[in-house]
Amino acid sequence: MPVGLSLRNVSHEFGTSRVLRDINFDVEPGELVCLLGPSGCGKTTALRIAAGLERLQTGTVLIHGEVVASAGQYLEPEKRGVGLVFQDYALFPHLDVAGNIGFGLRHMGSAQRRQAVINALERVGMADYLNAFPHQLSGGQQQRIALARALAPVPRVMLLDEPFSGLDVARRAELRDTTLHVLKNAGIATVMVTHDPEEAMYMADRIIVMNEGQVMQDGTPEDLYFHPENHFVASFFGEVNVFPSRVAGTVASTPLGDVVVENMPDGTKVDVLIRPEGLRIGSDGRDGDVLANIDAVRSLGGVSLMHLSIHNGPHVHARVPRPQAADKGGVVSITLDPEMTFVFPRD
Ligand code: ATP
Repeated sequence: MPVGLSLRNVSHEFGTSRVLRDINFDVEPGELVCLLGPSGCGKTTALRIAAGLERLQTGTVLIHGEVVASAGQYLEPEKRGVGLVFQDYALFPHLDVAGNIGFGLRHMGSAQRRQAVINALERVGMADYLNAFPHQLSGGQQQRIALARALAPVPRVMLLDEPFSGLDVARRAELRDTTLHVLKNAGIATVMVTHDPEEAMYMADRIIVMNEGQVMQDGTPEDLYFHPENHFVASFFGEVNVFPSRVAGTVASTPLGDVVVENMPDGTKVDVLIRPEGLRIGSDGRDGDVLANIDAVRSLGGVSLMHLSIHNGPHVHARVPRPQAADKGGVVSITLDPEMTFVFPRD
């Protein structure tokens, strides 16, 4: 089976500013890939080029093996067979909800179309709004209709730009699951733009982390979390403790203990990154242990964030299961989980 969507060597400039630099990725049918990165890194531009909303300048875009954009070749967005949920790809204001969702189903008979519209509305929890007009709906409701409109024709490729951003927490969780279910069942190749690492971890089969128009890493959520290839990716999934150090033999020393280093010459300047969940907290400090004072404990529900100051050392943050979280003012010992500890050469 051909690849659902491919971007090959795509670069793009707005005026003199290069916003995409040689982007390459493939999305298989039934796969959901998230583009994740800080504001302005080029995520939306990459998606708009794939959709045909932005003219390709350099590179090639293929959908199911067919070139839809390359130098001198350009297929209109509506001819690409893609479902779009974009902020600026609004609902048709002069059509009611039924008309909006039915628009992409014009090839069906009217009874079949009506049923498909109702099914799509039920999926997004909007069955009572068949005859409402967009201006009568809240922003979040309009977004749900836009999602239903994109999903109803079961396109081969789906492109979603922050599709859940205007929704409350409960509705967002529900719509994420519904959307995943529909996309997976129908074997649709999907690219979703988000700047929320947790949303990407939850939904994606693969995550492409971007920065300044470049792909920093492309891998499964597990790969990116446990095997980040660089400082940027390691620190993108939540706050990390960072310690400048220098390689001595096979270790780099930090105030929290020595960390094993592989394949780096003696003397290399490095940053050691330790996730807050990589600090193991003990209550029975012994001689030789790293000890810290508890400055504050913040409950995040199931886990707690501890603000600690190492004796004769820096402040660090630890994320621990709730029962472990001791009280402010106490003293704890710290050991490190090597799986949550990363060493990168300093730029
Ligand atoms: P966000 O998360 O804030 O939406 P993004 O990663 O999606 O950001 P893009 O919207 O792709 O980023 O924008 C990348 C860069 O290109 C930004 O610096 C933006 O200001 C610029 N840019 C985007 N569209 C245009 C345009 N039509 N004309 C000029 N510059 C643009």
